[in-house]
Amino acid sequence: MKYGIIGRNGRMGNEIYNLFSEKGHDLVFSYDKEGENFLETPEVLIDFSLPTAFEKVIEYVEKFRCPLIIGTTGLSNEQITKLKELSQTLPIIQSYNFSLGIQVLLRLVKLADKLLDDVDIEITETHHRFKKDKPSGTAKMIKEVLNKEVNISSLRLGNVPGDHTVYFGNLGEIITISHRALSRRTFAAGVLKSAEFALKAVAGFYTFQDIFELTK
Ligand code: NAD
Repeated sequence: MKYGIIGRNGRMGNEIYNLFSEKGHDLVFSYDKEGENFLETPEVLIDFSLPTAFEKVIEYVEKFRCPLIIGTTGLSNEQITKLKELSQTLPIIQSYNFSLGIQVLLRLVKLADKLLDDVDIEITETHHRFKKDKPSGTAKMIKEVLNKEVNISSLRLGNVPGDHTVYFGNLGEIITISHRALSRRTFAAGVLKSAEFALKAVAGFYTFQDIFELTK
């Protein structure tokens, strides 16, 4: 496929570029803080940058009229609404976590919450020192699945790609459900799966949870 990346020179941009290159896909467009590099119109656009680049992301999607995979975290409600508007005419895939393991964790968390009574629930997330947003988008996704007021504790440590743990504690025992991303490649693999899906998809707003369920 011919694809474009917004945030090409970042940690995720690099990982996506490496994996997509190994699979024989062609990078034909990129955009970064340093500027734009256009070779051809992409068939799919991928954004892993910052919410401050969002206006440019929309501008490029409207210009190229191609599907968008967006993994940038810390988006505002207005930005999500804008993506949903755009999804009326194009496939838009948005997720704060593109790893398969987190999809499994979300299901386990839902099940534990259903089965356990009278428990205290806490979420912790640990990420590398460069991460801009806090709490992580994934921790917010876990809270959304629980659908209740839950405390989130954030640690910023070294070079950790992403750890999330949910604790369920009562007076007799504690259950923990954890996920650890060992490298950013796991997210890039989810992005590739999403891009392959997007090329064949009809217009609509999809999450990685939808891709996980539709392509399993
Ligand atoms: P990074 O800081 O290494 O890279 C960010 C990239 O975005 C850089 O190339 C930078 O030039 C570009 N950029 C930043 N602001 C810009 C602007 N205003 N205009 C144009 N380009 C701009 O960050 P990273 O670790 O690669 O993470 C990127 C994003 O992806 C973050 O929001 C992060 O939280 C998110 N992320 C999401 C997932 C997921 O699975 N959804 C996984 C990891 C990271």
